[in-house]
Amino acid sequence: MSTYDLIVIGAGPGGYVCAIRAAQLGLKVACVEGRETLGGTCLNVGCIPSKALLHASHLLHETHENFEKMGLMGAKVKVDWSKMQGYKSETVSGNTKGIEFLFKKNKIDWLKGWGVIEGPGKVKVGDTVYETKNIVIATGSAPATLKGVDVDNDAGIVVDSTGALALPKIPKSMIVIGAGVIGLELGSVYSRLGAEVTVIEYLDVVAPGMDAEVQKQFQKVLTKQGLKFVLGAAVQKAEAVKGGAKLTYKLKKDDSEHTVEAETVLVATGRRPFVDGLGLEKAGVALTDRGFVKIDNHWQTNIPGIYAIGDAVPGPMLAHKAEDEGMAAAEVIAGKHGHVNYDVIPGVIYTTPEVASVGLTEEAAKESGRKIKVGKFPFMGNARAKAVMQADGFVKMIADAETDRILGCHIIGPNAGEMIHEICVAMEFGASAEDVALTCHAHPTTSEAVREAALALGGGAIHV
Ligand code: FAD
Repeated sequence: MSTYDLIVIGAGPGGYVCAIRAAQLGLKVACVEGRETLGGTCLNVGCIPSKALLHASHLLHETHENFEKMGLMGAKVKVDWSKMQGYKSETVSGNTKGIEFLFKKNKIDWLKGWGVIEGPGKVKVGDTVYETKNIVIATGSAPATLKGVDVDNDAGIVVDSTGALALPKIPKSMIVIGAGVIGLELGSVYSRLGAEVTVIEYLDVVAPGMDAEVQKQFQKVLTKQGLKFVLGAAVQKAEAVKGGAKLTYKLKKDDSEHTVEAETVLVATGRRPFVDGLGLEKAGVALTDRGFVKIDNHWQTNIPGIYAIGDAVPGPMLAHKAEDEGMAAAEVIAGKHGHVNYDVIPGVIYTTPEVASVGLTEEAAKESGRKIKVGKFPFMGNARAKAVMQADGFVKMIADAETDRILGCHIIGPNAGEMIHEICVAMEFGASAEDVALTCHAHPTTSEAVREAALALGGGAIHV
């Protein structure tokens, strides 16, 4: 029986990053993972495979929609679905093996199997009980279920995100339940691959939680790309029919009942914290009323020496939030100061165009009672965006009207997911909009639109 300084349960972006940072700080570390491969939801069935399919389907879309416009002629590109799946799987395994390499490099023991907390300082894997000074719960999340809609990923008809990443064939039609990040990303993939996609959302907006102007523009752009939206609709049930499934929903505005059929139904109604079989009740670890592990400001649960991070605890369910918490918890356990700035966590939707946001939306900034000012710049005024035929969006920056301090930024446009980090850094430094406006930006880049939005908050944007 080995004694560790730290056993991390779960090797997703929260857990593996926590394990690596703790090992770098000189702790003796093990990480328990029940999957065959490291990397958690993110690397195996989340961020990485979805981005591989988004990339491939985006390129396909470019060949069909824009190549001729640029004088690139040739036979119409066709999809070999099994090869595309192969490319996706290779991308995944390249990354998961990379984590295995990092574990070896940092002398982290991978305890293969499902971990159970036997009590403070005791983790059981298989028949072995390992002793440790500290435990970090990093067990992540699982797809949320929906009453009346039974998921069966093997059958490939009513699927969750994991099933949707590995469908046996490209369906001719798809219903996506939920217009959140996962639903819109995977809906975009299949729409570009030729499926007729209908998105059904309970709320009256797409991309809930995003800035309202961005939501409207995003819906407009996706509609132009061929996605259909039914908003304000409560799904009642899904039934098997010949060649697919029939979905019944009620429109909230008049309670009228409707049905729609498709070859595939993707349930993308969010995710729930996953702590099943972990033994938390026996160990006395408290949960919130929504089933997340309760933690204090130092990621410690109510039981000293047991910490929790990532999707298993409250907050945005994002890989980079989990990673930040993983590093911070490791620092705390090693006796140092761990810190996560929850006000500056970017959120990105990797469609084309990308949507990215950080900080307060205009609505939230107003609700906070501050006096604010808003600067906007359309990509129509950005030469680079026009050259790559993606000038449909805008950059919107929100600043405090009295101090000029940046409070938030929302981008819909090319490279939004990369550009947002300029504002993350600016916000970390407490920058004013003028600081960004006075920073020279290379031409021609899409980042110039960020500067122009900052200029719009002061002396005025140039290219409008
Ligand atoms: P997870 O990644 O869920 O890892 C937890 C791990 O713990 C799992 O491997 C699980 O097997 C293991 N585990 C659980 N219980 C035990 C146990 N008892 N013993 C041993 N092992 C156990 N986020 C982004 O930031 N960007 C994106 O682009 C993005 N895209 C996504 C796309 C999809 C389709 C999905 C589903 C999610 C996406 N996410 C994205 C969310 C992201 O995957 C999660 O926020 C992130 O993986 C959370 O990390 P985690 O370490 O908390 O948990």
